[in-house]
Amino acid sequence: MKELSKKKLENKTSNCKYIFVVGGVISGVGKGVTASSIARILSDRGQRVTAIKIDPYINIDAGTMNPTEHGEVFVLDDGDETDQDMGNYERFLGVDLSRANYMTTGRVYQSVIERERNLEYNGACVQVVPHIPLEVIRRIEKARDNANADVVLIEIGGTVGEYENILFLEAARIMKLRKSNSVFFVMVSYLPVPGNIGEMKTKPTQHAVRTLNASGIQPDIIIARSKMPLDEKRKEKLSMFCNVPIDHVISAPDVDSIYDIPINFEKEGLGDMICDTVGMTCGPAVNEGSLKWKKFAHSTHVKNNEVKIAIVGKYFNTGDFTLSDSYLSVIEAIKYSGYACGSKPTLTWISSMDFEKDPNKLKELSKYDGIIVPGGFGSRGIEGILKTIEYARKNNIPYFGLCYGMQLLVIEYARNVLKLKDANTREVNPNAKDIVIDVMEDQKDKIEKKKMGGSMRLGAYQAVLKKGSIAGKAYKSLSISERHRHRYEVNNEYREALEEAGLVFSGLSPDGKLCEIAELPESKHPFFLGTQFHPEFKARPLAPHPLFTAFIKACQKKK
Ligand code: GLN
Repeated sequence: MKELSKKKLENKTSNCKYIFVVGGVISGVGKGVTASSIARILSDRGQRVTAIKIDPYINIDAGTMNPTEHGEVFVLDDGDETDQDMGNYERFLGVDLSRANYMTTGRVYQSVIERERNLEYNGACVQVVPHIPLEVIRRIEKARDNANADVVLIEIGGTVGEYENILFLEAARIMKLRKSNSVFFVMVSYLPVPGNIGEMKTKPTQHAVRTLNASGIQPDIIIARSKMPLDEKRKEKLSMFCNVPIDHVISAPDVDSIYDIPINFEKEGLGDMICDTVGMTCGPAVNEGSLKWKKFAHSTHVKNNEVKIAIVGKYFNTGDFTLSDSYLSVIEAIKYSGYACGSKPTLTWISSMDFEKDPNKLKELSKYDGIIVPGGFGSRGIEGILKTIEYARKNNIPYFGLCYGMQLLVIEYARNVLKLKDANTREVNPNAKDIVIDVMEDQKDKIEKKKMGGSMRLGAYQAVLKKGSIAGKAYKSLSISERHRHRYEVNNEYREALEEAGLVFSGLSPDGKLCEIAELPESKHPFFLGTQFHPEFKARPLAPHPLFTAFIKACQKKK
C-alpha cells in the first residue's frame, strides 16, 4: 500500500510542470499579477496549481522592511511575513499558501550554512554553485509536494541582468536541464513608447532576452507590457529577434482593472499555448471557474453608487504609488466588498498629522461615508488618529479599525468616555498613567533582547464571537480564524471598566484572555468596530471579507 502511494507520488512529481516568471527591462511591470493570472487560468482549467515567490534580498522575510519602500508585508496563515505578491497569489488562486511558498536569498543561505554546520555535506567543499541553486530547487520541490501540485509557478523577483537574482536563474537553468519539457519560461517585459518618438520600442526587450540567454535560459513566451496593445510589426520583431514563435508574444497593455488580465490572457490564447507547450491536458478556456471570475471582473467596472472612504493614518505624504503598495490588501479588501454590494468605493488618503496641526480640519471627515484606520507602528500621527476616531464615534460615521486602528479605538474610548485622560499604549508612552494597551506577555523578553525578526504574534488564530454582535452577525459563525501581526494587546485590567462604559469585546481568543474585536452595539453607532487581527489578509475576490462587507453596508446606509 505504502509502496503504491509512493509510486503514485513519484508519477505525479515527474509529471509536474514548472513555470518560471522573470522580468525584463524595468521592475514594477506586473510580474506578480502576471504569475497570479497564469496560475488562475490553469487552476480554472482543472490543474492543481501552487505559486512561489522568490525575493532576492538578504532579509529572511519581509517583516523587517519598511512598507513605504518595499510594499505591504503580507502575513500567511502560518505567520510567515512575506512579500505582497503572495497576497496576489492567494487572492487570484483563492488558496492559503505557506512559508514553503516564499524564499529569499537570506533563507536559502541560512539553510545551506545550517546544513554545513551539521556535517550534512559529507565533507564536501560547500560552494555558492551548485549548493545554493540546489537548495533553491529543493525548496521548489518541497512547495510542490506540500501542495501536491500539477503546476508550480515560480516568480523570480527583480529584473533580468541584476546581480542579485543570478543564482535563482541558475537554479531554473538546472531544472530545465533535468526536467526539459516540464520547465517553461515566461518573460514579462516592458516596451516603452518614448514621448518624442511616439513609437513602441522593442530593443530594450531584445537586450533583456539576450541577457537571459547569457544565463542559459531561453524564454518560451514573452508577455509584452506596454501602454497600448502590440501591433503585428512589434510582434514580428520580438519573435524574430528574441527567438520565440510569433504566437508566443502576448500583448499585455495597461488595464483599468488587474482582474481583467486572466480574461485578456485567455483571449490571447495563452492558456492553450502553455498547455500545448508543456504537454498538459487541460480543460477548456471557458469553465465554471472562469465564468465566476468573469462575473467578478465585470463587477469591478462599476461606475456609479460611489461610497467615499477615508483612510486615515501616518506615512501618507509619500504619494499615491507607494501608498497603494503599502496597504494593498486593505485596498483590495475594500474593493471586493464594495463591488459585492454593487458600489464603487473611492479611497482618499488622509494624513492624521493634518488634524494635529489644525483640529478644524476634522470637519472635512463628514464628507466621507466611512473611515478606516489601518495597521501601523510607533507614535507618529497617533494623536490625530485619536481625534479622527472620536469624530467618527460622535458623528455616527462608520469606523473600521484594523489592528492599530482597534487599539486606538480602545484608547479613544478610555480617554473620552471613561475619562482616563492619560490613557495610552505602552508602545507610544510607557509612562502613561493608564496603559490600556499593553505589551503582550511573551513579547517582553523579545523586545528586551532585540529579537525583532519574525517574533510578533503572527499568523492565524481562532477567535470566538459574541452572539448578536455586529461581528457575530457579519461572519454568520461564532468561531473564526484570522491573521495577526502585533506585539501589543488590550490590557485586561481595563476590560471590565470599558465594558461597563458600553464597549463590547465581541471577539475573544478561545481561552477568553485576548480581546480580538471591540465594537459599539448597533443601537449606539451604525458601525464602530476594530479588530486586533488583519481581516484584509483573508479577503478574496470571489469571497469578500464579511467584516469589510458589513462596513461597506453601513457606509451605504450613511450615504
Ligand atoms: N503597533 C501595534 C502592535 O504592535 C499594532 C500593529 C499593527 O497594526 N499591525 O501591537
